[in-house]
Amino acid sequence: MKSALKKENWSLLLEILSQPTAPYREGHVVTLVERTLNKASVPFFRDPIGNLVIGARSSAELLKLLRRAGGQPRDPDEPLRIFMAHMDHPGFHGTRWVNKDTLEIKWHGGSPVEYLEGYPVWLGSAQGWEDKGTIFSARLMKHKRAIDTARIKLSSPSLHSRFKNPSALFGGFSFRKPVWQEGKLIYTKAADDLVGTFAIVSLACEIFGRKTGAKPRKGLPTVPFVGILTRAEETGFIGAIGHLQLGWYAHARRPLLFVSLETSRQLPGAQIGKGPIVRLGDRFTVFSANALRVLLDVAEKTLPKKYQARVMDGGACEATAATVYGLPAVGFSIPLGNYHNQAFEGGPDCGGPMGPAPEFVHQDDVAGMLALCRAILKPKLSWANPFENRRKNFKKSFVKARKLLKSG
Ligand SMILES: [Zn+2]
Repeated sequence: MKSALKKENWSLLLEILSQPTAPYREGHVVTLVERTLNKASVPFFRDPIGNLVIGARSSAELLKLLRRAGGQPRDPDEPLRIFMAHMDHPGFHGTRWVNKDTLEIKWHGGSPVEYLEGYPVWLGSAQGWEDKGTIFSARLMKHKRAIDTARIKLSSPSLHSRFKNPSALFGGFSFRKPVWQEGKLIYTKAADDLVGTFAIVSLACEIFGRKTGAKPRKGLPTVPFVGILTRAEETGFIGAIGHLQLGWYAHARRPLLFVSLETSRQLPGAQIGKGPIVRLGDRFTVFSANALRVLLDVAEKTLPKKYQARVMDGGACEATAATVYGLPAVGFSIPLGNYHNQAFEGGPDCGGPMGPAPEFVHQDDVAGMLALCRAILKPKLSWANPFENRRKNFKKSFVKARKLLKSG
């Protein structure tokens, strides 16, 4: 695969995309991420909600980072960049055994709403991939935009004997493979938001990574980077809310900037293959104007004409959660095909218009998002005064126009 992505990063992306995940069932992504971070000696811990916090060894160390005035080099304007992505994807939990080979399920998050009858699904458990089945008798939510409950016909009765507790089983729509590539497009059961998860893990390994056997670093990290990998975003950013509710950020003595890394539904002006998107806002709110100015300037410099910018109002994201808690937030998005496995764009394995379909992203967009993340971590960007140059130009325009003003 020719791309700006390094070989080892590419295999990590495929490995993360291959993990079974659903809201509240993020365990396999957590295990893989923790293994990857341990291998590279990257500090991390789990918060009480089960979110992964990367860049500090404990909550005490995160609080120290937050209390340390200014960044490194000691600059009081240098914000701590807190990148957020979520490890879940819409899917279902088992709720009741109807009989030995039929499982009743509850769906969590968005979903396709047409051509559901008989479409293949995968099932997983805490142990890993389990079985395949097909969906039938799906009932939609009142708003008709997602599945509420359905039944799954399993290919064998063995799960029934192994899982007396049906909620130990979870799943989602199944395609030819968990992940595959066609040209520069990566098709998968779940890009949203395992691509964002990959971006944060990949950045953390670059920033903190040590060769196997190297001595672990002592003292506080010097790069102003924290990563938060959250749970259950698809049911209303529950993991992010729980994290913000801990109240840790009220102790900050330095500026903070939350940066949501999302995979967001393709929209006019935010198209697949045309570059990562500076996310100006989501369905709920616009984001921090000052920080967005810095992001746009950085994007123009780093990826001239190869980035996009717009309010991505196809959904809400974790930057909204931070904003609601009074914290400055912005976001980057990767344009996503077949958002929440709905065939908006169609393509291979598509079950019909608005039926089940694999999500897909463009590898250059993924590489572009990583490039933008690296670029906004650089020191001495104009966080405190992003409009200074524009203000100078405004003054000049005013001086120039004086004569005309007086003439009337
Ligand atoms: Zn998402």
